[in-house]
Amino acid sequence: MKKILIKIRTSMKFLILVSIGTFLILGLVAFFYKPIYRVTLDGELIGYCAQKSKLQAKIEEYMENGNGESENVAFVQLDTMPTYQLCLLKRGITTNDEQIYQKVAEKGITYYKYYAILEDNEEKAYVSDFSTAEQIVQGLKDKNSDNIDNIQILEKYETELADFAQVEEVVANLYKEKPVEQTVTKVASKKSSRTSNSSSGSFSTSTNLSKSKVSLGISLIKPITGTITSRFGSISSVRSSAHTGLDIAASAGSAIKAAASGTVTFSGYKGSYGYLVVVTHSNGVQTYYGHCSKLYVSAGQTVSQGQTIAAVGSTGNSTGPHLHFEIRVNGVAYNPQNYVY
Ligand SMILES: [Zn+2]
Repeated sequence: MKKILIKIRTSMKFLILVSIGTFLILGLVAFFYKPIYRVTLDGELIGYCAQKSKLQAKIEEYMENGNGESENVAFVQLDTMPTYQLCLLKRGITTNDEQIYQKVAEKGITYYKYYAILEDNEEKAYVSDFSTAEQIVQGLKDKNSDNIDNIQILEKYETELADFAQVEEVVANLYKEKPVEQTVTKVASKKSSRTSNSSSGSFSTSTNLSKSKVSLGISLIKPITGTITSRFGSISSVRSSAHTGLDIAASAGSAIKAAASGTVTFSGYKGSYGYLVVVTHSNGVQTYYGHCSKLYVSAGQTVSQGQTIAAVGSTGNSTGPHLHFEIRVNGVAYNPQNYVY
């Protein structure tokens, strides 16, 4: 029993000695050497790091916020992360944590987050943040713009920043007036159909037209001779709807003659028609002479067939001197070429 105790004591003493020895050796190593990390990126040695956790935190911060050059940084993408290898270096060998950080940051791809304003799925403008984008949508709503349903806000992540636009500027650019003409035209055409039936002298500028041939009950002559430049029913970029008359090009000032005898029911300026004469004949038939440069008759005056009533011009929605000639029956336009030309 005593022998065993002595043996234990001896091995305890030995253990203590070994421990003290190890401690001394480690102390010596720690005195002359310090723990250091050998840092590689893509297999390439980029330096020695003294404070690993500090360097790692700095890199993580960079990946989250970039280097603070823009508020719009979403994140920085690093394809490969540095690898750390613990090694012992003699004291006095320099570590370069800052250079390691720079080399890692160099390979980062910065992504910026911002917002695009879309109209009909097309990117029209860019703004820095969501609330600015919302202000634009609200601005269009406040102005009762017609395209609110076609406006969208899209979150963008891009490697380059866009030029940001101002709220007022975008609202002004995107604002679209609601088309009110259609309803007005409908009302006007109904009203004028009724009034022209009662021969009150009113007339219609509606886009109602018929390609059928009705009997007018009267015979017409050509109000002018010239080249036909636009036919009845044609569609063109200068008009929003089908052509309600016939265009005959002639030099400015040429005499326009009444196609039939009747009463002048309008003589004056009328929107896209420019200077216009309307002559009302029997059977609810009316003839229109538009884009005139001069008017020789006035409302209420009776005219005979072939009488000069106006001069050719290019007033109103016109690109050159021509007569816009219409034939209407109870407000509906019919093809002049079924009767003259
Ligand atoms: Zn025309």
